Amino acid sequence: MSRMAIRSPAVKRLMKEAKELNKPTAHFFTQPLEENLFEWHFTVKGPSDTAFEGGRYHGRIVFPPEYPMKPPSIIMLTENGRFSVNNKLCLSISNFHPESWEPSWSIRTVLMAIIAYMPMHGEGAIGSLDCTSSERAKLAVRSSTYKCRDCKKTNLELLPEVEEVPGEIQELLEEASDVVKRLVIKPEAPVAKKQRQEPPQDAISLGEELNDPAQELRQQIFQQKSKQYLWTIYLLLFFIGLLLSRRLYLIDYK
Ligand SMILES: [Zn+2]
Repeated sequence: MSRMAIRSPAVKRLMKEAKELNKPTAHFFTQPLEENLFEWHFTVKGPSDTAFEGGRYHGRIVFPPEYPMKPPSIIMLTENGRFSVNNKLCLSISNFHPESWEPSWSIRTVLMAIIAYMPMHGEGAIGSLDCTSSERAKLAVRSSTYKCRDCKKTNLELLPEVEEVPGEIQELLEEASDVVKRLVIKPEAPVAKKQRQEPPQDAISLGEELNDPAQELRQQIFQQKSKQYLWTIYLLLFFIGLLLSRRLYLIDYK
């Protein structure tokens, strides 16, 4: 690597992120290719309680030389029934939140945004979205054995079962909610053709059919949290019951 390349902010930043992300988490694993710091491969786990549960999906992230000032592109490689494969997916600016990409967003937040996006959106909008839940579930079963030619490992080898740190997913989803709120992941706009009859389905912003992806994400987080609250209430009720029964017992047989 030349001295100039080492000095570039993109190289510095990518090397820093590579160091931080050098171990698989319960939800993803990603590292740069040995020969190219500007191309990373990742495996993400399908979110639980969705058709993607148990699935592991491999993909590439390609960084522009201006990273982190400009966002990376994503190419999914494992069939998933949600994102088309072998196409560049862009992190585009949402119609609803036309702010730009933030340099503070990281590879981790991008990966969490991909996971958060998987179960979102109704069927039928983008080519691969036409898959039914059962088709997605079938692909999820197959996905762990997908082997990347560059990584020479299967998804399961790249992302083995790692015990989750309690609350980890909520923390990560909250961290990613800003990205999800402001960006849409969509296929790269096709090169302008002379005659364009109607906008290709792929070019329609997901934001339009979606309303607000951040809203859905917040709902997901809320649902997970309310499950925890419910358990706390059950426990409290149990102890109150226990105390009451003791009291009754004392009164009856004193
Ligand atoms: Zn790979």
